[in-house]
Amino acid sequence: MTKLSDRIINLAESQTLAMAKKSRELQAQGKDIISLSIGEPDFDTPQFIKDAAKRAIDNNITRYTPVAGIQELRKAISEKFKRDNDLNYTAEQIVVSTGAKQSIANIILSLINPGEEVIVPIPYWVSYIETIKLAEGIPVTIPTNVESNFKITPEQLRKAITSKTKMIVFSTPCNPSGSVYNKEELKALAEIIVQYPDLYVISDEIYEHINFVGKHESIAQFDFIYDRIITVNGVSKGFAMTGWRIGYIGAPLWISQACEKMQGQFTSGTSSISQMAALEAVKANPSVTFEMRDAFKKRRDLVLGLLKEIPGIKTTVPDGAFYIFPDISYYFGKSFNNYHVKNSNDLSMFLLEEGNIALVSGDAFGDDNCMRFSYATSEERLIESVKRVKEALAKLK
Ligand code: PMP
Ligand code: GLU
Repeated sequence: MTKLSDRIINLAESQTLAMAKKSRELQAQGKDIISLSIGEPDFDTPQFIKDAAKRAIDNNITRYTPVAGIQELRKAISEKFKRDNDLNYTAEQIVVSTGAKQSIANIILSLINPGEEVIVPIPYWVSYIETIKLAEGIPVTIPTNVESNFKITPEQLRKAITSKTKMIVFSTPCNPSGSVYNKEELKALAEIIVQYPDLYVISDEIYEHINFVGKHESIAQFDFIYDRIITVNGVSKGFAMTGWRIGYIGAPLWISQACEKMQGQFTSGTSSISQMAALEAVKANPSVTFEMRDAFKKRRDLVLGLLKEIPGIKTTVPDGAFYIFPDISYYFGKSFNNYHVKNSNDLSMFLLEEGNIALVSGDAFGDDNCMRFSYATSEERLIESVKRVKEALAKLK
């Protein structure tokens, strides 16, 4: 008998966090590694948000909060949904959690029964699949590629739906492809979804504010499927607040109540201090995020330009988030010394050890032909990173 549960033995480690940990360890040993592995803004949290946290401490807002969040924050999030997304969620339909990661886990654990299928378009964010498996659900993936701009078609969605399908989980802007669904594309998907009354959608919109094409579109905007959508958002990415651990949902009341009950057993309300800081972030005019967004766009263009100079790499032009997800399969079957590159994982190990550059292999996101570059770092480091990638790849024959 093993000491650990089957549950934990079967759970894969988060590949994004694993790669970030590995590069930190190598850096600690003195190796000059540049890590483009983790998806986290390199900016500081804006000052007015930090000030709110300091005030919260001084005002002794340091006790347990209601499980679903401080009422004032839930109300402000409800107003944010109306202001930015034209979505009507009352404060009671909002649940604030310890990061959008917990929001997603709450929903999946609250809705998925063993054997139920959850559709996940490829490429997907690493944690979706493992959380579905924890709930004993069955992930059903839909392939995409550079040519389809990593977006699924309504026809692909229809074909993936069976009598066991309970849910679809996707992100827009997407981690890792950076693709953004426009209003027409979302409407076409919604028109399929509405035909299946027992089908629910997790719309992960955590990169809402990092969008280079204009208006962010939420799938919950279509009245005819509003009651089947759980909109996930948070402050980690747009406000450079990854360490504060605040995510939230807007959902039909029965789902938000279920998530509150789930959270009441796992973690309770998230940090009172972080909630008071997040209150300022969600109340603020979204224009406070524009400077960071514009810097990301400049970096995207820089990296895309540099990647063009590397033979065999195919990319899309990502419309949001801070990732580029190029197809690097041209290098499969090539070798250098003891390295024989057969897949994206081999290539990421080769780049780490031969090029001192940490990227996350596409197989972590369901697409083994690709590799994820997180360009949330300085232009100087980005230039050096792509140079390292180029030089290392040139060794493969
Ligand atoms: N969804 C996506 C697509 C993400 O990239 C992340 C980043 N970690 C999360 C959810 C979770 O964000 P957090 O828990 O930091 O709010
Ligand atoms: N979402 C980020 C990423 O994809 C943070 C790491 C994680 O939580 O997986 O890199």
